Amino acid sequence: MSAPVRARVLVKPKTLEAREFARPAIGADDALLRIEACGICGSDYEQYEGAQPVHEDYTPYPVIPGHEPLGIIEEIGAAARGRWGVREGDRVAVRSGYGCGRCGACALWEPRACLTRGGTYGYTDVGKPPHLWGGYAEHMYLSPYSVVRKMDPSIPAGVAVMFNPLAAGLSWAVTVPRTAPGDRVVILGAGQRGLCSVIAARAAAARQIVITGLARDGEKLALARELGADATVNAETEDVVARAREITGGGAEVVVDTTPYAPQSLNHAIAIAVRKGRIVVAGLKGLRPAHELPVDDVIYKELTIRGVLSMPVDETFRAIDLIESGRYPFEKMHTMSLPLEQAEDAIHALAGHIRGINPIHLAIVPGAPRVALPA
Ligand SMILES: [Zn+2]
Ligand SMILES: [Zn+2]
Repeated sequence: MSAPVRARVLVKPKTLEAREFARPAIGADDALLRIEACGICGSDYEQYEGAQPVHEDYTPYPVIPGHEPLGIIEEIGAAARGRWGVREGDRVAVRSGYGCGRCGACALWEPRACLTRGGTYGYTDVGKPPHLWGGYAEHMYLSPYSVVRKMDPSIPAGVAVMFNPLAAGLSWAVTVPRTAPGDRVVILGAGQRGLCSVIAARAAAARQIVITGLARDGEKLALARELGADATVNAETEDVVARAREITGGGAEVVVDTTPYAPQSLNHAIAIAVRKGRIVVAGLKGLRPAHELPVDDVIYKELTIRGVLSMPVDETFRAIDLIESGRYPFEKMHTMSLPLEQAEDAIHALAGHIRGINPIHLAIVPGAPRVALPA
C-alpha cells in the first residue's frame, strides 16, 4: 500500500478541510501528477466564498480546489505517454479544463478541440473516483483527456506556474481585443493578471500602456512601470476616467478590466474607450451587478465588449515559451509559496485580507516551509 494523498477539500463556502485519499491506480490512458505548485487567482477566492456563478461543468462543493496545477509526472500509462509525449519525471503544466471523453475530438485524443469540455480541475466533484481532481493536494489525477505541456524543470516552481495568469494576459490584453502596434491600452487593476496584461501589451508594441491600482498597490504599480507601463493611476485618490483620458490624450482603443468585485469598472471602461474601442471584461464581480451602465455610449461609440473566462490553449503554450525565454522578470511577481496546510491563508492573502501584505502572485507548494504571516 502506498501512502495516502493529502488534500484540502472545500466542503461548503469558507470551509476547507484536510482529507486523505488513496493513491489512484493508473491505467494505460491516464497519469498521476505530483503537484509542485498550484497557482492561486481571484477565482480561488470567489470559489472559496461561494460567490461564483453557476456554470454547467463546475461543481461548487465538495471539491478539491486548485485549477492552476504544475507538477511532475509520477506515474503514466503507455498510451498516455505516447499521446502527450511525456514520461515519468517530466515537469508539466496542466490546463484547467479537460475533455469530455465522448465527442469525436476526444475519441481522436484531441481534447484541445473538445467543445463540450468534460470538466475543470479544481471544480470537479470530489466524490467522483478517483477523487483527486484538484491542485490543493500532494497529487492530482490526470484524466486521459487532459492538456499537458512539458516545462523546463530549472525554473522555480512558483515562477513556472505563472503560465496561467500570463496566458490570460496574452489573451485578454492582445489576442481578444486584437491589440495592434500603436494602440493605447488601459488596464484596470494591478493584480497578477493586470501585470501580465502589461507584459503582453508591451510585447505587442502598444503605443501607450496605462494601469490603475488601489492606494495600497504602490509596489505593484512600480513593478508595472518596470514591466512596461507608461503611466499609473491611483483609483482611490484620482478620478480614473478623467486621468486615463488625460494621460492617453482622449481615451484608449483597448481597455482591459481585471478588477475583482468592482462592477463600476465596466462604466469606467466604457467612458475611457474611444470610438470603435474594444473592452475586455475579465475580473469577476462576485455576482454584483453594475449600475447606471451608459448603454447609449456603447452604441454611439460602437464599442465591442467581450467577456472572457479562460483562454485558448495556444495562449497557454505561448505563455510557457515566454516564461522559459527568461525575457521578463517573472520572479518579481511571485510573492510567496505557501504549504498545503496554509491554503486558506493563501486565499485570504491574495484577497487582501491579511494586513501588512499585498501579494501579487501566490502558489500553494506542498511541503513548502510554513510562512509566518502577520496576524
Ligand atoms: Zn485561476
Ligand atoms: Zn470531448
